[in-house]
Amino acid sequence: TDAIRPLIAGNWKMNGLKASAAEFDAMLTGAAAVAAKADLLVCPPATLIAAFAAKAAGKTVAVGAQDCHPKASGAHTGDIAAEMLADAGASAIIVGHSERRADHGESDDLVRQKAEAAWRAGVIAIVCVGETQGQRDAGQTLDILRGQLSLSLPGGSKADNLVVAYEPVWAIGTGLTPTAKDVEQIHGFIRELLISRFSDEGAKMRILYGGSVKPSNAAELMAVKNVNGALVGGASLKAADFLAIAKGC
Ligand code: PEP
Repeated sequence: TDAIRPLIAGNWKMNGLKASAAEFDAMLTGAAAVAAKADLLVCPPATLIAAFAAKAAGKTVAVGAQDCHPKASGAHTGDIAAEMLADAGASAIIVGHSERRADHGESDDLVRQKAEAAWRAGVIAIVCVGETQGQRDAGQTLDILRGQLSLSLPGGSKADNLVVAYEPVWAIGTGLTPTAKDVEQIHGFIRELLISRFSDEGAKMRILYGGSVKPSNAAELMAVKNVNGALVGGASLKAADFLAIAKGC
């Protein structure tokens, strides 16, 4: 019932080879049926962005990336600049995913620089935040989110260049999800923070929920106030599941 158009974003993580193009083709074919309800975005590994973007031209599925380096070019072996991802056809970049924060020690400050890099390249930044199980057990969830949001979101964030993804770390890839009541409370808290910092833009910004979203729970989660779509990991690898989640919007 929110006026904000939902976004269903798939994060393939480190999965996918050239042969996965068949699954992406199936997503493109099925996407027309959900285009009226939601924007669709698939973020494959960087190696597949150009090929997928070529297939997606003129279709209703956008292609994105999972990370970028803050700089535009230079001596950073193995890293990929936002400009390169945009050049390959990405229209959005996920930054600050909990796996990057954990595997690569990414700080909120670095995540903010990456979001700014996405803008510099002309693409949307999807900034991920979320508490760990330990932080949740200690009752620190809202404090953690307040800190992550204040440091990871660049000044000047707007509804058309920034998406927030709330992803409780304990819910990612575990099959566990917060209750709808918890999601409503937390998304409402995030909305208040966004409005207090970005005014009208904060009121219109998309706040995605992520963490074990699947066809069987998507409709309930997507119906929660201030949930404007989903960031989907495992279930985004199969066209049937990904499209079923989008239909639940
Ligand atoms: C994610 O990694 O962004 C995610 C939400 O993963 P999953 O859906 O597999 O829990």
